[in-house]
Amino acid sequence: MVYNKLYIRIAAAGNFDEKFLTEFQKELQSLLWDTLGINASCFYNVSNSRVIPIYKIPSTAYTPHIGKYNTQSLFIFGKERREESLKKFGKAEVLLKVLVLVDVDIYKSGFTGTLFGEAEVGGEIAIVTTAPLENHFKSNFLIKERALKEALHELGHTLGLDHCKIPGCAMNISKDIYDIDEKKKTYCKQCLNKLFGGYT
Ligand SMILES: [Zn+2]
Repeated sequence: MVYNKLYIRIAAAGNFDEKFLTEFQKELQSLLWDTLGINASCFYNVSNSRVIPIYKIPSTAYTPHIGKYNTQSLFIFGKERREESLKKFGKAEVLLKVLVLVDVDIYKSGFTGTLFGEAEVGGEIAIVTTAPLENHFKSNFLIKERALKEALHELGHTLGLDHCKIPGCAMNISKDIYDIDEKKKTYCKQCLNKLFGGYT
């Protein structure tokens, strides 16, 4: 796949503070440049406002008998944000992904472990939650580092990558936060080759 420019609309829903989101966006953008070597534009706003829109978690997402939020509703929320963003570009053909960032526990049917995020391979929407990334140090820095790795993982799926077993690669499966801490904020060479269609 050849990327001229990748656009990533970040749609944050929950109780995020603006400083966290600003740093997250800046670092994600520079990681994509450093690891993918592509000109990625990560943005929150579809208007010219400087205030980051922070959405409410869609009420339909909450599933009382499980006590968590289903990703199905979050995908719909992401698709709505994508439609909204496409209008910004008019009819131009753009490679546009949406990263839905939430701060609540999420689940998908049939999966009983801790879910850090979800995305379809080759899909348009990636979901990442910071809720299970909390730690007893209450360190925002650590939460952000983990969220960035999970964002690379889920966005990697949307760009066509499957899970990878090379140690340290962001496309490794994470069963818990310790697995996330083992990963680097980058893709391995094999995954990068796959992204760029054999280019080395
Ligand atoms: Zn890999």
